[in-house]
Amino acid sequence: MAKDNIIINGVPVSGGVAMGEAQVLRDPMFQIVRRTIPAARIKSETARLEEASQKAIEELRIAKFKAIKAVGEQGASVFEAQVMIASDRQFLDSVIEKITVERVNAEYAFQEALAVTINRLNDSQDQSLRHMIHDIRSVSERVLSFMMGIGDGHENGFDRPTILIGRIFSPGQIMSYAKRNVVGFLTEEGGPTSHMGLIVRSLGLPAVMGDYSIGDDITSGTQIIIDGNNGEVIINPDPNTWRNYRRIRLRKRSQPFALLLKSRSISPVCSDGRKIKLAANLEVPGSLDEHLVRLGIGVGLYRTEFLYFSKQSFPDEEEQYDVYYGIARKFNPLPVTLRTFDLGGDKYAKELGRISEDNPALGWRGIRVSLESPKMFRTQLRAMLRASVLGNLKILLPMVSDVEELIATLDFIEKTKRELKRAHIDYDDNVPVGVMIEVPSAAMSADYLAEKADFFSIGTNDLIQYTMAADRGNHRVAKYYIGHHPAVLQLIVRTIHAAHQNGIPVSICGEMASSKTMAPFLVGLGVDELSMSPTQLPVIADWISRFKYIDAKRFSSRVMRLGNAEKVSRALKEAYDYIKQQRKGSWLDEQTRRR
Ligand code: PEP
Ligand code: MG
Repeated sequence: MAKDNIIINGVPVSGGVAMGEAQVLRDPMFQIVRRTIPAARIKSETARLEEASQKAIEELRIAKFKAIKAVGEQGASVFEAQVMIASDRQFLDSVIEKITVERVNAEYAFQEALAVTINRLNDSQDQSLRHMIHDIRSVSERVLSFMMGIGDGHENGFDRPTILIGRIFSPGQIMSYAKRNVVGFLTEEGGPTSHMGLIVRSLGLPAVMGDYSIGDDITSGTQIIIDGNNGEVIINPDPNTWRNYRRIRLRKRSQPFALLLKSRSISPVCSDGRKIKLAANLEVPGSLDEHLVRLGIGVGLYRTEFLYFSKQSFPDEEEQYDVYYGIARKFNPLPVTLRTFDLGGDKYAKELGRISEDNPALGWRGIRVSLESPKMFRTQLRAMLRASVLGNLKILLPMVSDVEELIATLDFIEKTKRELKRAHIDYDDNVPVGVMIEVPSAAMSADYLAEKADFFSIGTNDLIQYTMAADRGNHRVAKYYIGHHPAVLQLIVRTIHAAHQNGIPVSICGEMASSKTMAPFLVGLGVDELSMSPTQLPVIADWISRFKYIDAKRFSSRVMRLGNAEKVSRALKEAYDYIKQQRKGSWLDEQTRRR
């Protein structure tokens, strides 16, 4: 049992305070211990093993069936392979032999037999056999979870407000836990710009990311408080601390939302009159939508893949149409930018199969998945095009890395339009199609992409991770994830330049758009729109009104001449401090004088 009031410090991921009972959910493999069993238990241990593998086979068959329905036979092939692995009699017999001869519990015997198999495959010269290792691990985790009764065991919800502790949770898991009395997350991975970070923030759930040992002092059932504003975690708080935090929780929760609800208007204008458009990033239609409409704020990025996660299966055309049309009508005539599914990477969709990738962020993700899952893509495009009749929808394509990909996608959209036309179904023939610029190759090809696209949206969350080769969700490399690095800034400038040369607008929809530190630089570059989480809108609108566009423009040019991140950081900080103090005159002049 941990001592009272232990405070540990982590990284704040999503603001607010969560208080509740800890539930530690670790990977099943980490929980296995060796237990010697009496001879009389051999039979029941063997039965547990058989039952767990049967359940896994059942589950995989259902997944395969759903995958065929959603994306066709090809995408479902991985489940076919996994069913075969789960049914491997020779392997199961080797586990039973271990249980019987060594008199050990089924999980331990399973883990030992698995290690032998994996070592053998690792040593194999045959690459296809080595590739099977991922599938074998995935099947094994399934079987072990059943054997250990993990699932998570709380399918109907937790009895008390619960804070989940684990390595990382996928967007799908988070959306599902949010409905089951989970009030906060404490994880070892998943930084502020990770997809986990984005989804917890959009759901208003506090989250903290910590070091690998962060959960070691906490066992399931311990009372904990996590403060997502400063990254503090308090284990076994005393009654006084608990009372204090209850007060803080009420205050902090309401702050950013209250600011948005209170706002009369949000039309960011620099102090010399230059207007900048602001837009909202949405993951799920929510309670703030009406306020956004009242304030004249459209949707700059609607992450449609979260539709999938909230349902845990692919919505059919009608379901998608209802959501897309619903949001287009609610915001009409304000623009609504629907991004096609950005699945893959850490946004894993089991129906797509192909889950075994060494490097998912560099793997099968975004538009690559859509183009290779024509059934899924066609369904989504039909729903989007049908919903475009009101004239305010835009379609945005994620993770485009190459012009050929854009051409293939535009062809696909044209084909889908022709299909609708033949069936006399209405759609907006001029629906703008834009490209996310979030892969360095896209930024480098921006000139060519701009000739074919109707608009650009710069996804800085990914652009930073791919440019700096630093996983956006991995705290061990967080220090390399530098948004203000000259390499990243060069790509942003190049993209904006290419867009404007070709007469198309460019927006920024990554987290950078809501950074006060970056705002003067981005505004000065002439970006047309900043799209961000709704609660940040009043903050950024107010910030922009504090400086002149003319200063921002000169400031951006100066920053672009700085050769390293340290110098850029200093310049940004000086500008920030100057704007914050709202000193009279031009902060750029001041900076220039001091140099
Ligand atoms: C981005 O990469 O900046 C972006 C907006 O897309 P996502 O965060 O959904 O990957
Ligand atoms: Mg992205």
